[in-house]
This record gives sequence, C-alpha cells and structure tokens, in this order.
Amino acid sequence: MEQAFPQCLKCNSGILLPLSDYGRDGASIMYKAWVCNNPNCGFNLRIDNGEISTGRDITESYK
Ligand SMILES: [Zn+2]
Repeated sequence: MEQAFPQCLKCNSGILLPLSDYGRDGASIMYKAWVCNNPNCGFNLRIDNGEISTGRDITESYK
C-alpha cells in the first residue's frame, strides 16, 4: 500500500486521502472528496458536479 498522496497544504504535516462515493445508479465516483488525515487540521476538499469547494464540514448521508 505504498501510494503517494498529496501533502496537505494547510498544515503541511498531514496527507490528503481520497474518498470515493457512489452515484445513484451505483456507479462509483472516484476521488470525490479529499480529507486531511491530521485530526488537528480538518482540511477537506470536495468536488461536486465539477465544482471544487473547500473547508466545509463533511456530513455523511445515510440511506
Ligand atoms: Zn492538513
């Protein structure tokens, strides 16, 4: 599992981990969001319909 993930530009100590999601039709959406693995940082970035937004709280939706 040696993968090079981008370093977090906010805290410069964590790395950004990609999160995948699944669309309504079950198709996987790769790398929809990225989160910093440093709990003291909490930086996150997500991509919705081609738009990138940062700094929002990531809320998980349970179906
Ligand atoms: Zn960070």
